Amino acid sequence: MGWSITIGRFGGTAVRVHLTFLLLLAWIGFSAYQHGGAIAARDSVLFIVAIFVCVVLHEFGHILVARRFGIVSKEVTLLPIGGVADLNKMPDKPYQELLIALAGPAVNFVIAAALLLGVGAIAPSSITHLDDPAIGAIERLAAANLFLGLFNLVPAFPMDGGRVLRAALAMWLGQERATRIAALIGQAFALVLGFVGLFGNPMLVFIAFFVFFAATGEAQMSFVSEATRHIKVADAMETRMATIGHDATIGEAADILLATSQESFPFVDGSGTFLGVMSRSDIVEAIKTGEAGARVAPFAHGEIATVDPAETLDKAMEKLGEASAVGVVGADGVFKGLITPQSLAEVMLIKAARPDWRFSRRGS
Ligand SMILES: [Zn+2]
Repeated sequence: MGWSITIGRFGGTAVRVHLTFLLLLAWIGFSAYQHGGAIAARDSVLFIVAIFVCVVLHEFGHILVARRFGIVSKEVTLLPIGGVADLNKMPDKPYQELLIALAGPAVNFVIAAALLLGVGAIAPSSITHLDDPAIGAIERLAAANLFLGLFNLVPAFPMDGGRVLRAALAMWLGQERATRIAALIGQAFALVLGFVGLFGNPMLVFIAFFVFFAATGEAQMSFVSEATRHIKVADAMETRMATIGHDATIGEAADILLATSQESFPFVDGSGTFLGVMSRSDIVEAIKTGEAGARVAPFAHGEIATVDPAETLDKAMEKLGEASAVGVVGADGVFKGLITPQSLAEVMLIKAARPDWRFSRRGS
């Protein structure tokens, strides 16, 4: 995520802080300073930092359990609304998703229990007065962890409880129906929340919007990954396109750019070996800085992910990420085609039109 700085690493996962989070800290410190001076400002900032340390530990609960199932998380980012761990793929089995989702709130409950053992019993009143300085910081932190754990168990996407619900339903109904039902419940929850918020709490309306769109996005993501899991790369890749040869000049590349509407151009040698990809902007960059008769090769990108044509499309999707294309390359290194965001969009179009469509190439 952009606008973030890395503050440390733990077992291969970078912990990053988004700049808006630092702004939040500054704002909290400033407003506490206005009311209670320097000590109040320090205490408020320390308390918020402590809460967000717990949020990071919550995310590491998810990350460490996911790692047991072979799912790696490269970074976790702290935003003012909480932590986001990027898992590079979704778990295959419902029970795995269930355990990964439960691990986060479990961490908060463990922290709360540990803090309570430290201070003895907690007064129930402290849960509703988290900002009351008369209550000890440890108690307030324990109460905040209880709240974090419980709030995340609300059975609505994108909260962990939504995933727990989806995973539990998926054991009976299969991924696709489970996701549809869980997403509907998430959206219904968001509508109720937004409605309640209209009577006096604008913050709730804001959270409701966030929950609603996250539930919708989650459903779409899940449909895409479910739809692509059974399709072979060879049956979905783009095969009819202009390629750029490794000895082509900038002038020839410009001609190819004009002759097609492609976004990405495979870069190949004389025997068809895949060397990388040139994007439109690479070619424009070459035109800007080079002579028409010069070789275009220095402007090509070699470090492009590749997949085997026999792989399934969801694997290609994972590799695609934010990139413009993934090269499809046979065992002999020969270029076969490209998977691009456009290929995925077309697969989803066909799936939407005919859910039972069989993707198998009838010769190209
Ligand atoms: Zn969580």
